[in-house]
Amino acid sequence: MQQIKEYIRDIADFPKEGIVFKDISPLLNHSDTFNRVIEMWKERYANRGIDTVVGVEARGFVFAAAVAYAIGAGCVMIRKPGKLPYKTFSKTYDLEYGTDTIEVHQDAIDPGQKVLVIDDVLATGGTMGAVLELLQDNFKCELVEVTFLMELSFLDGREKMKNIPTYSLISY
Ligand code: 5GP
Repeated sequence: MQQIKEYIRDIADFPKEGIVFKDISPLLNHSDTFNRVIEMWKERYANRGIDTVVGVEARGFVFAAAVAYAIGAGCVMIRKPGKLPYKTFSKTYDLEYGTDTIEVHQDAIDPGQKVLVIDDVLATGGTMGAVLELLQDNFKCELVEVTFLMELSFLDGREKMKNIPTYSLISY
């Protein structure tokens, strides 16, 4: 885990003053470490019968695509409004100031499919909580697990994971 943490850097005051942003760009661009992360997920999920890996815009896409390929599953994108070309389901959720909306294609997941959901960071849990509600409200799928590269555990985001098993590769 220490090796992975070495390739995550802290950026002070991004995207606004007072926030320390965990930047995963060095990890993605270091082949051994990127490979190791995908292999860890592959070991955990290769034999779970997962049909589809759902990735959350934007850094979640990078991991979702790689894990989907590694375990032989399909891949679904959860996007910000207006980005998906076909009919969508959407969910609006509260932010500290204002609201945000996410969308998914209406035909993204078939009934009974086993789904893994991935994002890079679990912080307050607001984003992933909304993603899980969007999926639960609109698809009769089985949410096998929700997984993150890293969890900022002091923010208690886990409480918003709707009792779905939650797994993070690293924790701060
Ligand atoms: P939450 O909704 O849990 O507060 O924030 C998680 C979402 O914001 C994720 O989609 C994640 O990509 C992004 N995010 C929040 N904080 C960070 C951070 O420090 N580093 C990165 N890479 N993403 C973050």
